[in-house]
Amino acid sequence: MGGNITAEALDRDERRIGVYICHCGLNIADTVDVEAVANYAGTLNSVAVARDYRFMCSDPGQDLIKNDIKELNLNRVVVASCSPRMHEPTFRKACEAASLNPYLFEMANIREDCSWVHDDREVATQKAKALVRAAVARVYYNDPLEIKEIPFNPDTLVVGGGIAGIQAALEIADSEHKVYLVERDPSIGGHMIQLDKTFPTLDCSQCILTPKMAAVGAHPYIELLSYSEVEEVSGFVGAFKVKVRKKARYVDEDKCTGCGLCQEKCPWTADSEYDVGLSKRKAIYTPFAQAIPNVPVIDRDSCAYFLKGKCRACEKFCETGAIDFEQVDQFIELEVGAIILATGYDAFDPSTISQYGYGIYDNVITGLQFERLSAATGPTGGEIRLKDGRKPESVAIIHCVGSRDQNYHEYCSRVCCMYGLKVAHIVKDKTNADVYEMYIDMRCFGEGYEEFYKRVSEEGVNFIRGKVAKVTDKAVSEEEEGKLVVICEDTLLGSIIRVPVDMVVLCIALEARSDAEEVARKFIISRRADGFFLERHVKLDPVATPSDGVLIAGCCQGPKDIPDTVVQASAAAARVLAMISKGRVTLEASVSHVNEDLCIGCGRCEELCEFHAPKVGIYEKPMPVSRVNEALCKGCGACAVACPTGAISIKHFKPEQILAMVDALAET
Ligand SMILES: Cc1cc2nc3c(=O)[nH]c(=O)nc-3n(C[C@H](O)[C@H](O)[C@H](O)COP(=O)(O)OP(=O)(O)OC[C@H]3O[C@@H](n4cnc5c(N)ncnc54)[C@H](O)[C@@H]3O)c2cc1C
Repeated sequence: MGGNITAEALDRDERRIGVYICHCGLNIADTVDVEAVANYAGTLNSVAVARDYRFMCSDPGQDLIKNDIKELNLNRVVVASCSPRMHEPTFRKACEAASLNPYLFEMANIREDCSWVHDDREVATQKAKALVRAAVARVYYNDPLEIKEIPFNPDTLVVGGGIAGIQAALEIADSEHKVYLVERDPSIGGHMIQLDKTFPTLDCSQCILTPKMAAVGAHPYIELLSYSEVEEVSGFVGAFKVKVRKKARYVDEDKCTGCGLCQEKCPWTADSEYDVGLSKRKAIYTPFAQAIPNVPVIDRDSCAYFLKGKCRACEKFCETGAIDFEQVDQFIELEVGAIILATGYDAFDPSTISQYGYGIYDNVITGLQFERLSAATGPTGGEIRLKDGRKPESVAIIHCVGSRDQNYHEYCSRVCCMYGLKVAHIVKDKTNADVYEMYIDMRCFGEGYEEFYKRVSEEGVNFIRGKVAKVTDKAVSEEEEGKLVVICEDTLLGSIIRVPVDMVVLCIALEARSDAEEVARKFIISRRADGFFLERHVKLDPVATPSDGVLIAGCCQGPKDIPDTVVQASAAAARVLAMISKGRVTLEASVSHVNEDLCIGCGRCEELCEFHAPKVGIYEKPMPVSRVNEALCKGCGACAVACPTGAISIKHFKPEQILAMVDALAET
């Protein structure tokens, strides 16, 4: 550790800055001469002490800062280490613990911005000195800021009623805090309720999910808003306001007994969403027998009364008078402290890969359709059947359909290898057909997954390593007559092979919801390049988003299996419970501020702000001016840049702070 207290610095002026240079093990010290940087920092204006230390973020590192603040009367601190995203809160807390306002602290990033991107020690050291010089110049002008707290509303909104939303809602509600669960579909359950068995243990998906669904339906602390969608969100962490559209079901939920007579009598049908088009449902329908709530909806697009003005058979037969064709959408205003988004995924549409024949050949089906065929609640009562009712004698399972493919999604969907193996096992078990599994690599990463792969391998499944080029019905031999032929490169044999089969199951990718962009905009969160919602930190904060109080869980954040979905949902619930338990929220102090004497009330700030923080109005002045709701402001600075009169500034980012940095960087 180097030390450098300059005696004359004590008398220079009232600013007494402490500068601390971190080695970060060898992350920084390997490339930057940290002692030289500390010695240099000691010569800078108003620097009272400059030190270097192996790990500034460690307890002894923080103690150094705390002791110096007290013993050397420091009133400003600079730490030169890693990205502020990692440790700014750590060092701000250390300053606070020594009674120094945390905004009198500044950080220079000499790791990501310097040591990690340079090889030349001399150049890196010079750059580190420049970055420290700039931070010292800036901290000189830093002001103490007031840190405000507001109460936290203990009610929570969960959006999406798949396994992620169900798990999160139950965990919060079980601690006797109110949860509003908003589900777009007529019932909760998501994709999991469509599955037959779940890998690797092969438990019946519905058997393990329906008790949780029933618990949601009966929970005194959960208000289930099914067939509903969030229309608008305003407010901020601790105090969100949410407007929900409860879509007209045309069935009175209080009067309906769920007897099912209306569905029996309805003469009109449409493709069943639950059975992925493999069966028909009625125009008035509950998606499946165990639906929660067990109340049907009328689908206007297939109901004869809505299309042609006559029928109303359901109304005639309903003994409780629950059918209500006059029902309209209702709007419900909610106030909540936190929001968990659990909106899940869309299944990739394989008809875009026309060479695989989906939508062209009857017996090319998706993995999700296979789940419905295999389920006892499905259209064939669980029998694996071809379109013409025959039992398949041979089945090909094609992996990575839409995943790991530069033309569609480059990412791996994580569950397809495993559900491909599950399909192979079920086909063997139920039909004893020949099974061909065409894969690129086998990715069996979870608990019991590799063992499941081994088990399926021993069941006589033929594994062919290679990417499928095409599925065709053009036979070139007698053996191929009347069959689907899968043309595939077998990379282990190094040759192109043709495999004639009766059925092809496509292991389709999981992709971001088609409306993910709109949902992200509504909740002011971001998306990754692959379309899924972006977490605050991929490793260290995978449930939070850049929007405080908005958390994500399950497949809306990226493809994952049920165990990982449940873990993430529980983590999101724990986050919410921590906020509820604290009972208050600390607001960001570095927010925008309007000088009302300069403001002309033009409203550009209001138009620009994505957080809806500024509002132009007639306040104390006769002329309209802009005022900022500090609880909404994230201090991004967009308003300050756009303000034509320079009336808006951002606390902690005043022009003199920024210009001092620029001047310091320009020095040599
Ligand atoms: C063919 C196939 C087989 C699989 N087999 C297995 C298996 O055996 N084992 C396993 O571990 N995993 C399996 N999976 C993965 C499993 O489906 C997911 O891990 C799980 O469903 C993710 O749950 P979720 O709640 O995140 O999303 P979803 O199940 O997609 O649920 C999201 C819910 O949110 C609702 N929603 C969406 N948008 C909105 C909105 N804007 N407002 C309100 N509500 C909204 C949806 O209607 C839905 O109810 C399989 C996947 C596929 C495709």
